[in-house]
Amino acid sequence: MSKIILSAAIRGAHQIHDRVQKRLDEALEKYGEKQEIGFPNTAYYLPIIYGMTGEKVERLGDCPKIMRIAEDLLPPVPAENLWTPYLGPGLDAGMATLFMEEIEEAIKYVDGPNPVDGIWLGAADDVIMRERGVEFVDGTAPGFCALLGSAPDGETAENIVKELQQKNLYIWTSANYNGTTVAEQLAARDVQLGWETRIVPYGREVSSVVYSLGFAARAAMSFGGAEPGNYRRVLLYNKNRIFAFVITLGTVTDEWYANAAGAINYGFPTIADTDIPEILPTGVCTYEHVVSNIPHDQIVQRAIEVRGLKVQITEVPIPMAYGPAFEGERIRKEDMYCQFGGNYTDAFEFVEMKEMNEVEDGKIEVVGPEIDDIEEGAALPLGIVVHVAGRKMQEDFESILERQVHHFINGAEGIWHMGQRDIVWTRISKKAKEKGFKIRHYGEILHAKFLAEFPAIVDKVQVTLYTEEAKVKELLEIARAKYHYRDEKTAGMTDESVDIFYSCTLCQSFAPTHVCVVSPERLGLCGAYNWLDCRAAFEIDPTGPNQPVEKRGVIDELKGQWESINEFVYQNSGQSVERVNMYSMMEDPMTSCGCFECIVAFLPICNGVMIVNREFTGETPCGMTFSTLAGTVGGGNVTPGFIGIGKVYIGSKKFIRADGGFLRVVWMPKELKELLKEQLQKRAEELGVPDFVDKIATEEVGTTEDEILPFLTEKEHPALSMEPMLA
Ligand code: SF4
Ligand code: ZN
Repeated sequence: MSKIILSAAIRGAHQIHDRVQKRLDEALEKYGEKQEIGFPNTAYYLPIIYGMTGEKVERLGDCPKIMRIAEDLLPPVPAENLWTPYLGPGLDAGMATLFMEEIEEAIKYVDGPNPVDGIWLGAADDVIMRERGVEFVDGTAPGFCALLGSAPDGETAENIVKELQQKNLYIWTSANYNGTTVAEQLAARDVQLGWETRIVPYGREVSSVVYSLGFAARAAMSFGGAEPGNYRRVLLYNKNRIFAFVITLGTVTDEWYANAAGAINYGFPTIADTDIPEILPTGVCTYEHVVSNIPHDQIVQRAIEVRGLKVQITEVPIPMAYGPAFEGERIRKEDMYCQFGGNYTDAFEFVEMKEMNEVEDGKIEVVGPEIDDIEEGAALPLGIVVHVAGRKMQEDFESILERQVHHFINGAEGIWHMGQRDIVWTRISKKAKEKGFKIRHYGEILHAKFLAEFPAIVDKVQVTLYTEEAKVKELLEIARAKYHYRDEKTAGMTDESVDIFYSCTLCQSFAPTHVCVVSPERLGLCGAYNWLDCRAAFEIDPTGPNQPVEKRGVIDELKGQWESINEFVYQNSGQSVERVNMYSMMEDPMTSCGCFECIVAFLPICNGVMIVNREFTGETPCGMTFSTLAGTVGGGNVTPGFIGIGKVYIGSKKFIRADGGFLRVVWMPKELKELLKEQLQKRAEELGVPDFVDKIATEEVGTTEDEILPFLTEKEHPALSMEPMLA
């Protein structure tokens, strides 16, 4: 490390030390040692400290010890011309900085100003961390850019951020420069901020960088299986798996240097727009550590090269930006030019396969008015009809492709899309219209994306967009008949009706022993892969993560155990799981990775089970919140008494059948109950207990077993009179 940076980082760390020590002393004086501190809804305490040292900071009284650890790391400020050939002291100063700043930010949650304020979001909780962290793992988002400071003007800020969004990266902003921040510059230009658009304003101060690096530490512990305190693994996971870097806009102060040094520990380089000393030799990073003086129109490209990120982007021929970062964008009525569907008009989308000679690849047609033929604020009917052909295309893939329409269309900047089939609702913004977006571009997007994402099954794509009412109505009937046909076909499917189940090992990238076995009546625990999806995925990529598993040698019909499936799971779990019961959570249940939609947990006093979904952040009767539970259950482990599941499995006839089935459910959050209302009711009727759903307690009844038991007794919940769940 160049001596200048070395001394700057160390000087900065010392400044931070003096400030945080003072703040901590004051807080201890004011609130006492017993005062609880921490970030909201997380099982990882102050995550950088926890990840690097294993220390759980829960109270103010735990902080002085961490300050001592930081002081031990903190080298003395070097004499002006001291030359040192290695990075060590600067890196240590950087790590000490992060520990101290984490304490500082945590104190703010107690003492104010609250880090969550106006546009500022403060720490991401574990629900967000898991949801978004999974994207880092599966590649939907390769990583993040920690963006510090502010651009010379709003337009430059917006250009830089757009470019990062188009590379699918998260943009996490911290620190102010020249009295403002990138986040404020964007807000002033009406750019939507938040997790949905991937632009996350953590905080105004440079210390909020700890929210970025704390996220990275949690990802390593949660997805990378790094034990708290194993700093090597935490850091290596980030260096190897998370494509992240720091961009600084504005004068790099000593404190910024100290934070940059902290990031270099993770293998995250810093790219600056100002002329600061560079650190070019490769060491901790496999590339340059600090690169300076990069013009704004090149800074994103340069950062990506330095960090060695390969971003694959399909060119989508539309006049706006395109990428998953735009999927979360909303379009308010005032910003809308026109809309289709919702409660205003009929709108549907329909993918149908045709013979090769019946499809003209790239042909896109609008039948009815185009956007220039209508007034601002108009609502038009819309039928999106996609014809695909391919040598390996099958009828069963139609619905799989159709489900992608939502996702593909939403990727366009300034376009919003919701729903599928005949409940579509989509809007085109005024901005998109100004840039030249036409209705035909819906077709351009689908053509480009289907070919790019499904090359194994799709060879030709033709799209017709109907905006003429009579035609939409006519085709809607045809589409509805087909939807119905598809539903009948899948509804009739049972596990007994097939000879082959499918595996999914996609999540092994972060939970190496995890294997989902997906059957017609039990979908993958993330909720995203059912049996048909897995079958299609296998056709599309025969060597991919979804493999057929023949069902042979039944061992236990009721519990759902077969010899051949045991063998497969044993081989594919790195020989760590010997047996699996498809329909039991108590005995040899399936492994749980980390992306389950819900967790089912055994409640001994109630002789039943509770189900909690990821969105529910409160306490639950098993004594743990979802995020704490997830930390216990996930990671590819088998934990009898607990399983991760997809929501749809709750209504399945095979739902924990061997343990008593659906009638064991004694508690679930109100929101989940509401969401699955119809499915639950149907299942209750099938089981001959039509008022069963009302017997399931929610958080309104209580959040401990003792609180809900009287309710269950009063309602004569069937679980109470079933045989003991624990044999
Ligand atoms: Fe596949 Fe299961 Fe992971 Fe879903 S949870 S992606 S089904 S391994
Ligand atoms: Zn998973």
